[in-house]
Amino acid sequence: MSLSFDPATIDLPRAHFIGGERVPATGGIALHRPSDGVAFADCPVAEADLVDRAVEAAKRALKTSGWGIVRPRERVNALHRWADLIEAEAVTLARMEAVASTRPIAELLKFDIPITVEQIRFFAEFADKEGGDLVPTAADSVGLIATEPYGVVGAITPWNFPISMAAWKLGPALAAGNAVVLKPSEMTPFATLYLAELSVRAGMPAGLINIVLGDGRTTGAAITGHPGIAKVSFTGSTGAGAAIMENIARTGIKPMTLELGGKSPQVVFADADIALAAGAVARGILANGGQACVAGSRLVVEESVAEEVVGLILKQMSEIKPGPTWDEASAYSPIISERQIGRMAGIVDAAVARGARCRTGGSRLDREGYFYAPTLLEGLEANSPAITEEIFGPVLTVQTFRDEEEAMALADHPTYGLCAGLYTRDLSRGLRLSSRLQAGTVWVNRYGRSRDHILPTGGYKQSGLGKDLGREAYCANRKSKSVLIAV
Ligand code: NAD
Repeated sequence: MSLSFDPATIDLPRAHFIGGERVPATGGIALHRPSDGVAFADCPVAEADLVDRAVEAAKRALKTSGWGIVRPRERVNALHRWADLIEAEAVTLARMEAVASTRPIAELLKFDIPITVEQIRFFAEFADKEGGDLVPTAADSVGLIATEPYGVVGAITPWNFPISMAAWKLGPALAAGNAVVLKPSEMTPFATLYLAELSVRAGMPAGLINIVLGDGRTTGAAITGHPGIAKVSFTGSTGAGAAIMENIARTGIKPMTLELGGKSPQVVFADADIALAAGAVARGILANGGQACVAGSRLVVEESVAEEVVGLILKQMSEIKPGPTWDEASAYSPIISERQIGRMAGIVDAAVARGARCRTGGSRLDREGYFYAPTLLEGLEANSPAITEEIFGPVLTVQTFRDEEEAMALADHPTYGLCAGLYTRDLSRGLRLSSRLQAGTVWVNRYGRSRDHILPTGGYKQSGLGKDLGREAYCANRKSKSVLIAV
């Protein structure tokens, strides 16, 4: 069966999803398809009263279903049924996602949806295995560390991998016994809505997942500042993360997890497998058109092999196949919006005007939609915004080093610390330097997230606070209580 489809034929749910029902809405933010620039839908904006309704629905669902206090295996089974239905509905979900987002249909069906299914199953299994602790105390007492769900968790997700980002939030929060009010990005809301609807069709309590659509300033702020939301889980830019912290500090302190931006280095030593390293670096900046928090956007390469590595990367950059996200042959994503392509072009143009050499790209692709050519910049000033700012596009900068110290100094970023790549055949060096790199994740001789969901992800420095994935994400969705019983 061909995966390609006509985007005009896809029926998109134009509604919020509260208490298990669509709440129709009109108007809002005009959306354009990144692949061809055509205006195709509006995203409604929920005001505070609708967020109230969603929080009340979540509380009601917890109370009537007992989701947080049932035998945990019931939660495991329900989440597995939901995962099965997502798997069965993969094509419908993928098409909804492909129309609005930058994710090509073939990648959605190969990666995003299967990974979403896996992650929901992965988190489900914690529910009846991860518990509290019986701790050593004096003989006349018994000390317990019990854990409990928070209640209603508020989740906010970005547009770059909408379905999998929703799974990162929903999987652990629900497995841990909470209900969720989630706001997807205003640019890519549709597949997340459908994902929530599938949970009800799979027999999960209505109201356990509520989706409210809207922007950050109105809907997002109403969620993070809501007194009925006990914990906030956010993925997005560092700027929005800071605004959320501020709002939470003003409206009532509560725990939060923040997964934020990055500007990750790819450090290649001369003793590396050069073909392997160049391939990983190229994929690390081309995947999703560079619109990944983990994008390896700064190549830091040993001088003696720099030209060889750059040559191989340029070759891969020249071979990419751009195309609309609804064409199964497309392997190179558009940029999300006209605004974002303009911002990226501004940074690249300014760097070139200040003397940087653009070895390839540096301009928009001559086709409809928001496509930008894979771009490689050399000879940059150390403080160039191309090196310091998260561009969130297919722009790779190159810096060279002569020894380990220089490599580590260049790899270090003053504010970001999400991930880093390290390429060397010397495993002692790999281990030694992975502990020096100031990043929440270090990949050695590979780059990008694997399907080992047990590895938590999160940032050092201003790349974040707390972790998604792994046992840590599950545990972060339960609060601990110390109980001391005199015997
Ligand atoms: P963004 O920060 O503009 O928006 C993310 C979400 O936050 C959206 O739903 C938006 O409506 C909402 N939002 C914005 N301001 C808000 C506010 N003041 N209060 C509440 N909600 C608010 O980010 P984006 O452009 O959608 O996504 C790209 C960014 O996300 C990049 O910086 C990228 O690095 C980051 N990201 C990080 C990870 C990670 O795991 N660390 C993963 C994916 C994306």
